[in-house]
Amino acid sequence: MNIDNRLRSIVIVGGGTAGWMTAAALGRFLTKDGQTRVTLVESDAIGTVGVGESTIPQINIFNRMLGLDENEFVRRTKATFKLAIEFRDWERIGHSYHHPFGPYGLDMEAVSFHAYWLKLHAMGEDDDLGAYSLQAVGARQDRFMRPNGQANSPLGAIAYAFHFDAGLYARFLRDYAEARGVRRREGRITSVQQDGLNGHVTSVILESGEAVEGDLFIDCSGFRGLLIEETLHSGFEDWSNWLLNDRAVAVPCASGGSFSPVTRATARPAGWQWRIPLQHRIGNGYAYSSAHISQDEAAAYLLSHLDGEPLAEPNHIRFKAGRRKKSWNRNVVAIGLAAGFMEPLESQSIHLIQVGISRLLAMLPDRDFRQPDIDRYNRVMAFEYEKIRDFLILHFKATSRNDTPYWDYLREMAIPDYLADKIALFESYGRIFRENEELFNDTSWFSVMVGQGLRPRGYDPMVDVMPVEELRARMADIRTVIARSAEVMPDHRAFIRDHCDAMA
Ligand SMILES: Cc1cc2nc3c(=O)[nH]c(=O)nc-3n(C[C@H](O)[C@H](O)[C@H](O)COP(=O)(O)OP(=O)(O)OC[C@H]3O[C@@H](n4cnc5c(N)ncnc54)[C@H](O)[C@@H]3O)c2cc1C
Repeated sequence: MNIDNRLRSIVIVGGGTAGWMTAAALGRFLTKDGQTRVTLVESDAIGTVGVGESTIPQINIFNRMLGLDENEFVRRTKATFKLAIEFRDWERIGHSYHHPFGPYGLDMEAVSFHAYWLKLHAMGEDDDLGAYSLQAVGARQDRFMRPNGQANSPLGAIAYAFHFDAGLYARFLRDYAEARGVRRREGRITSVQQDGLNGHVTSVILESGEAVEGDLFIDCSGFRGLLIEETLHSGFEDWSNWLLNDRAVAVPCASGGSFSPVTRATARPAGWQWRIPLQHRIGNGYAYSSAHISQDEAAAYLLSHLDGEPLAEPNHIRFKAGRRKKSWNRNVVAIGLAAGFMEPLESQSIHLIQVGISRLLAMLPDRDFRQPDIDRYNRVMAFEYEKIRDFLILHFKATSRNDTPYWDYLREMAIPDYLADKIALFESYGRIFRENEELFNDTSWFSVMVGQGLRPRGYDPMVDVMPVEELRARMADIRTVIARSAEVMPDHRAFIRDHCDAMA
């Protein structure tokens, strides 16, 4: 056995969100003793994708891992807080629902809360699922606070995430990483050198002629996948038959309208529009299918559906839904857009960066690069992407919209077996089970299934053990506790002003 066969040099290619998140994590854990050098190469001339501003609560795990001060992080990235996603016009035009973070109500007598709600709903007595979620009620009322540590109160377990400025986030993490020894090289990579025997990447060559050598290369070069695809030809699994949107147009606008702690996703004739409120502006975009609307029409549509004056020219972005068949190939690991992308629905992409980093740290190789570890990494990442994919497809499939050919296609399309099984199980007795560690748990699936108009034929018979009067009383109690708890939460803007105002 080789003793201390550690990696001597890790090269991160790309300085977008993926590159700097990876650099920050490696800086935190690997560079301490000076044995492993970490270098990040990026090109200002090429730039970053420049979007990606809405997150999910798992980002708090990443921030804690780095030991960030949250108020400083919010100030530096001009961030706001997020309690939910609001879906408008997805099930039908004029209908809306929240997909909140955190659970609904509470499980009782070993039966899930969802089952009790479905019974009340079947009896025609309850339609407002959101009233059982503190996050949904807080979102509706533009309120926010962090969990206050109180046990046995929903206020003690508020789940939240952030909206932040992507450029400022990368800059913030760059400062963090450079302070921990990560070196940055500016320059466009013009060619890649490989070992003639095993095909491993040995160095990347910059326009200046300088070679940056490494043992492990992390490809964070964005959609093109400079190393993972253009060099190693790892292959791409195309999911665009289910996820039709292949373009986006993004434009920031001046603040206006509500300042709720919510990402809004509004279904549109040929796609959907996002609205992400930051402290200094609102991020907006229209993700659309180029087969159903032209670039100019999409831009015009977006510009006529903003809450404030546009602050920049529209940024047009092309993409294809899918993932790299191998996100780890030889000595290259792709993270971020280089590894795959599904449209920004449900804000999962930055999370997938985080998963890629944490799985890589869990399976960090030495200079031997053993295949069982590589295979395991690829299996785990494939599982993560596929389960998220199916959750996203649910939003397009479960709809009664029939106003455009785009929605007609989506409503009628064949779906992956996993999703079909999940829907069939729900339509039976309303049951949902989380598959291993899939990202979206049963609360998320329940929220979106109910929000998109799916209803089961029956409910879990275990629910009938509780007398109806007791059920009504307990459900009313839960609603009251949630409503009273929400009253304690301050206004979202006031909370930011008091704790982490970037504009002061
Ligand atoms: C329209 C849209 C909306 C999105 N919204 C969200 C969201 O709300 N929430 C979310 O979680 N995610 C979102 N995402 C995803 C998110 O933007 C990305 O996951 C994130 O920005 C990571 O991008 P990246 O770092 O992989 O790539 P990029 O930002 O493209 O960075 C690539 C880097 O590689 C460098 N590079 C490339 N080629 C070379 C070369 N030859 N030489 C040197 N350097 C090179 C570039 O300079 C750049 O630094 C969205 C994505 C899109 C497309």
